[in-house]
Amino acid sequence: MSENVSSLKDVPLADFCTYHTGGKARSLKIVYDVNGLLETAVGDFAVIGCGSKLLISDSGYDGKVILMRLSGIELTERGVYAYAGAPLPALARFCENNSLKGLEWACGIPGSVGGAVKLNAGAFGKSISDVVDYVDVLKESKLVRLSRDEINFGYRSSDISSVIVGAGFALIRTDEDMAALRKKYFSQRRATQPRGFSCGSVFKNADMPAGKYIEQAGLKGLAHGGAVISEKHANFIINTGFASSKDIFTLIRTVKAEVKSKFDVLLQEEVIYLGEFY
Ligand SMILES: Cc1cc2nc3c(=O)[nH]c(=O)nc-3n(C[C@H](O)[C@H](O)[C@H](O)COP(=O)(O)OP(=O)(O)OC[C@H]3O[C@@H](n4cnc5c(N)ncnc54)[C@H](O)[C@@H]3O)c2cc1C
Repeated sequence: MSENVSSLKDVPLADFCTYHTGGKARSLKIVYDVNGLLETAVGDFAVIGCGSKLLISDSGYDGKVILMRLSGIELTERGVYAYAGAPLPALARFCENNSLKGLEWACGIPGSVGGAVKLNAGAFGKSISDVVDYVDVLKESKLVRLSRDEINFGYRSSDISSVIVGAGFALIRTDEDMAALRKKYFSQRRATQPRGFSCGSVFKNADMPAGKYIEQAGLKGLAHGGAVISEKHANFIINTGFASSKDIFTLIRTVKAEVKSKFDVLLQEEVIYLGEFY
């Protein structure tokens, strides 16, 4: 095994997700470079980037989990290239430092480049797919470059089913004050989003923002165990410190049932489940 892979057994996955809940993985491979990934990404496995969109079962994951820690961001002719494990805020700051515009809205999103491309992360009316030039993936143990046209991006989704190794972004050179833009986005986040352990928005927006449905269903502040629906932003479920994943899952089920019965709208989860939930 390459020295660029750390292999661990029976590891608590709560340490690798922003909800800080969930049980153990039977096997965890922390991968630091492409060779390590080529060695490791064989057979069945689940992938975690920064775990900022995941709800991991309290019974854990009975299999191999690959934790993507391939990092590195470099300038290219058309913008930047970032490895999948690079944190989005680092990518946004790199672009700012190089006067490149197109990813400044991503400064407050605590995900990895791989997770953001896979889920087509976005904020303030922008999505990562607006600036994706190409994506490198692992297909049958080979590196393959997908051009933007070969990928179908949707709202918080893509049809990429392979492990993302890195992505190229086409960006625009700018004279704008990028630091001022970053500060504006941060303060908008602080004003509208709660602090605490969460996965960001739990539900995808429907014909109206999911948070509005939840608020109008009178569910703000509803708690189960250590989980609570945020008073500040109803689409956030917060782990107050002692929640289990089951507590969070119970609130998710309650929200879906209440919104369905009051408005006949079935909200779809944006949060991704890892492991078994019932
Ligand atoms: C406080 C807070 C604020 C947030 N704000 C926003 C926001 O404004 N906009 C937004 O879109 N999201 C937001 N999020 C959600 C989250 O940060 C994004 O969805 C992020 O892009 C997820 O990346 P990740 O690396 O954490 O993915 P993970 O949670 O680790 O994984 C999510 C999914 O992507 C897959 N995946 C991860 N890496 C790879 C890879 N290299 N190859 C293939 N598949 C991969 C996983 O298998 C999983 O299915 C927020 C979350 C929090 C906690």
